Amino acid sequence: MIASQPSVQTVSFYINGQWESAGNRRLMPVTNPATGAEIAQVAYATAEDVDRVAQAAHAAYLKWRDVPVVERMQPLYRYKTLLEKHANELAATLTAENGKTIDDARAEVRRGIQMVEVACGMPTLMMGDSLNDVSAGIDCHTIRQPLGVCAGITPFNFPAMVPMWMWPFAIAAGNAFILKPSEKVPMTPSMAAKLLHGAGVPAGVFNLIHGDKVAVDALLHHPLVRAVSFVGSTPVAKYIYKTAAAEGKRVQALGGAKNHLVVMPDAQMPKTVENIISSAFGAAGERCLAGSVLVAVGDAAEPLLKLLVEKVSAMRIGDGIEEDVGMGPLVTKEHKERVAGYIKKGVDEGARPLLDGRSHNGNDDGFFLGPTIFDNVQPGMTIAREEIFGPVLSVIRVKTLEDAIALVNSSPFGNATSIFTSSGKAARDYSARVEAGMVGINVGVAAPMAFFPFAGWKNSFFGDLHAHGKDAVMFYTEQKVVMTRWF
Ligand code: NAD
Repeated sequence: MIASQPSVQTVSFYINGQWESAGNRRLMPVTNPATGAEIAQVAYATAEDVDRVAQAAHAAYLKWRDVPVVERMQPLYRYKTLLEKHANELAATLTAENGKTIDDARAEVRRGIQMVEVACGMPTLMMGDSLNDVSAGIDCHTIRQPLGVCAGITPFNFPAMVPMWMWPFAIAAGNAFILKPSEKVPMTPSMAAKLLHGAGVPAGVFNLIHGDKVAVDALLHHPLVRAVSFVGSTPVAKYIYKTAAAEGKRVQALGGAKNHLVVMPDAQMPKTVENIISSAFGAAGERCLAGSVLVAVGDAAEPLLKLLVEKVSAMRIGDGIEEDVGMGPLVTKEHKERVAGYIKKGVDEGARPLLDGRSHNGNDDGFFLGPTIFDNVQPGMTIAREEIFGPVLSVIRVKTLEDAIALVNSSPFGNATSIFTSSGKAARDYSARVEAGMVGINVGVAAPMAFFPFAGWKNSFFGDLHAHGKDAVMFYTEQKVVMTRWF
């Protein structure tokens, strides 16, 4: 512990255009997962803080909604330039507190920038419809208006990108926004907020607080908060959806995942293996789009597993800040232990480890696990059913594509899935019949771009309108129909 060292910064709130000191609030350590060292402390917001930020945001919204949309875009254009300029610093901060490799962090920042770019199209995106003479002498048009104060609650695994699925669209549409990011990774959103301040977003339009359930609950029950966007685990997503909906708020709650990668015997093996590795072990498996169950169809298993084990064994594991590292640590010691617990459970339940990540000998102070591949996994095993959120891939062998579809559709989750094949017919049948929100065809991480919607089905999503794309414009606006007659 190096908590007493002066280099440890305190991360606090950005409310109404001001950076606040932590005062006597609860402080929690932020650790670098690669070294185990404490790198910052984060202040936790109280219910009073939430009330203060909601009031400030609401006051800002009352002015911001009247700013013409083309003027609302200007700080976002400046922000995009600042993000480009500081992308490497942002990525380095992200790696320091989250553990993902620097390349992955840079790619995440790039995805975040794309959200801002798309939100800059708001003058077009917010347009309504119109039709003259819907009745004799009567014209009709629709308008989209902002909702008011919107809140975002985000997870630890994408601290730069996921908040940007939300607030650029929300504020471009004329709302004010309160972000409550994961308390495990508060530094990246703080740095992003400093850049936004530099871009000249008016005070109170964007606000940042930190904390845990106390802050979240206060947001869910606050009468001035009109809409809640959540991304995180399924149990919390369900809770957020129920609680905020019961308060009459608009909610989108994106939850956890258990993604299947189906490999047909006619798949192009080397390319398929490359994609599977990046899907299952990229970001140490801490992605909601990570492949977690590998479904080998027919004769696919033997050539697939041989090449997969060979390539995965050669992966370099280490501090993600080093350029040639293939996989970094898990986010916290507790999470590493949880994932190691799943590996033990897999062995206990009779799966055969082709690689066991617990044997990885790395830096003792960091939260490292090597990649794990289990063969002979049965659909009823814990490792086949539950979200592990770590570098663990379970292989299930099935006879036909029909069996694969039935297996995938039996999962309570429905976030993403991929099929690897050379057959257009197999790909078409799979994408048509599989019960998941995002499907990859020879693509291991089926992440929709900023201009498309992002969300799963079943226990991976609670709500109606998905994240980003046109859905975000609808989510952050209320529609009104105007009928006009002039006498
Ligand atoms: P988490 O659910 O633990 O936390 C998410 C947010 O909720 C954080 O801001 C946290 O402070 C808050 N929170 C946690 N417990 C709470 C409670 N009891 N009451 C109120 N608020 C609470 O998730 P995480 O561990 O940060 O992130 C990993 C999870 O997020 C995984 O399940 C992953 O699949 C999911 N995820 C989903 C998507 C998607 O698009 N569906 C994207 C990224 C991550």
